[in-house]
Amino acid sequence: MIFRQLFDHVSSTYTYLLADEGTRDGVIIDCVFEQHGRDAGLIRELGVTLRTVLDTHCHADHVTGAWLMKAAFGCRIGLAAVYRAANVDLPLAAGATIRFGAEALEVRATPGHTNGCLSFVTAAHDRVFTGDALLVRGAGRTDFQGGDAQRLYHSIRDQLFTLPDGCAVYPAHDYEGRTASTIAEERAFNPRIGGGAQEEDFVGTMRNLGLPHPKQLDVAVPANLRSGKPEDEDAPAEAALAATPSSGSSGSSMSWGPVVRTYAGLPEIDPEWVASHRQEVLLLDVRSRAEFDGELGHLEGAELIPLDELRGRTAEVSADKPVIVVCQTGRRAAMGTAILAKAGVTRVANLAGGMVRWRELGLPS
Ligand code: FE
Repeated sequence: MIFRQLFDHVSSTYTYLLADEGTRDGVIIDCVFEQHGRDAGLIRELGVTLRTVLDTHCHADHVTGAWLMKAAFGCRIGLAAVYRAANVDLPLAAGATIRFGAEALEVRATPGHTNGCLSFVTAAHDRVFTGDALLVRGAGRTDFQGGDAQRLYHSIRDQLFTLPDGCAVYPAHDYEGRTASTIAEERAFNPRIGGGAQEEDFVGTMRNLGLPHPKQLDVAVPANLRSGKPEDEDAPAEAALAATPSSGSSGSSMSWGPVVRTYAGLPEIDPEWVASHRQEVLLLDVRSRAEFDGELGHLEGAELIPLDELRGRTAEVSADKPVIVVCQTGRRAAMGTAILAKAGVTRVANLAGGMVRWRELGLPS
């Protein structure tokens, strides 16, 4: 199985991408709105067909990227039915199975942190995605959103600690850099519920955590009850993302053309689109003069500023039109794109695959 763990450093959230190695059908668990560009870039580069986007629960500390994933990939949104959230395609309850290719996740109800928390277990029972029910050496707080320490005690003991010793535990958060654990480890060492803790031990501990009110609660919960769909009903997905301040320059470029952000974080654009929109963009070639006049040729109307000179000559690049940066294979152009973005050019993208791909596609130069 393809398996990736991703991290959002603002909310300390872990996102998990799982896919069938053969069919490439996949699911993503607990994705974060502001990380959509990164996560979508990875999904595209791994050739995954995203079937389902899942949230372990209605989060209080970040807005889910579920609706953006559905808008980008047409996948289904799965969340516990209990929340009655809008835009959910798969209202989930205990016993459901989520299939992707030959792989599957079994849904277990693990309420207590909230009243709708689910855990997802792989068919082989070798990985469990516990959300905030069971954390590495911790357990999710139980003092709001229908939280209940007694329920959480029974969820962990009956639904999670009954999994095999070696089953890897992947939580929704960690604030100390711990990425994973195992059922045996948590049963032994979890300071809230491990080491044979009884219900009174756990409930007493959870009642006295003394945690501050989560900063994002008032924003995140209402947004998550819409599956992360922005309030402006008509906003296209990418524009909605561009409107978020932390999404960076890649998001704001979406309005002028089909720019995609690579997993490396760079804006790229498809050569076919460029070929049919030549008059609407500025083509900037960053190769050497010799290459520009050489065998591969260059695009008609392209301006030449070799990459070595670009940092000192950014003022010569007109920002009247979106800028498409071109090189041989797209590597130097990616650097050129980054240089221009840093100089304040907001509408800029790298011609994906450069002149080599352009030639391979038989596009006119
Ligand atoms: Fe939570």
